[in-house]
Amino acid sequence: MSAFLAMPQVRCALPNFENAGRFDANDLRFFKGRFPRGLAHNFFGDRFVMVGDAAGLVRAFKGKGVTSAIQTGIRAAQVILRDGISSRAFQNYYRANADIIDDLPYGRVMRQLTIAASRFGLMDIVLRAAERDSHLRHALFDAVSAHRPYRDVVREGLTLNATWAMMRSAFEP
Ligand SMILES: Cc1cc2nc3c(=O)[nH]c(=O)nc-3n(C[C@H](O)[C@H](O)[C@H](O)COP(=O)(O)OP(=O)(O)OC[C@H]3O[C@@H](n4cnc5c(N)ncnc54)[C@H](O)[C@@H]3O)c2cc1C
Repeated sequence: MSAFLAMPQVRCALPNFENAGRFDANDLRFFKGRFPRGLAHNFFGDRFVMVGDAAGLVRAFKGKGVTSAIQTGIRAAQVILRDGISSRAFQNYYRANADIIDDLPYGRVMRQLTIAASRFGLMDIVLRAAERDSHLRHALFDAVSAHRPYRDVVREGLTLNATWAMMRSAFEP
């Protein structure tokens, strides 16, 4: 953020930037935000239930946190209206979110793979390979679009053809 604010183009767009923080200390306080990376412990119990980020019911990496927050809120409301607010009733809430919960381990694997690939400069190889292999191309699209679960993305992105396309991209000039 500091590097962004230091850019001349940004400075031009922010009049009196040099005075920021002089009158209100909060002017330049920024928070980069955090994404939940796992399921919260005890996200429901007798007469309480959590939804969205607080519950960790977010598909890691997919940028669909608002959708998940609304979706899990609706699911919690449906369970409350149908089954009540006991701990036992909220077992159905857990089951209703199985699509997200089952996908979390795959999301974590994707996240670690992407971090490692970026660190070692391998993303360009993957992108070049995606030009050759349609399965890999679809897998990359689905990885960020939330159209399909990560389980499918990982399976599609790690086929023999996709691996072969990546090896070719790595060794060809
Ligand atoms: C930088 C960044 C970019 C993002 N971009 C996207 C995006 O492009 N698309 C997308 O879908 N998602 C995006 N997300 C994720 C998305 O913002 C969240 O997943 C979503 O807002 C979660 O909704 P929520 O209702 O679960 O939680 P929140 O939106 O965090 O709402 C929780 C609320 O509870 C309040 N609160 C906390 N503690 C207390 C308390 N003790 N008493 C009373 N109130 C309290 C908080 O102030 C807050 O208003 C982004 C997140 C970040 C950090």
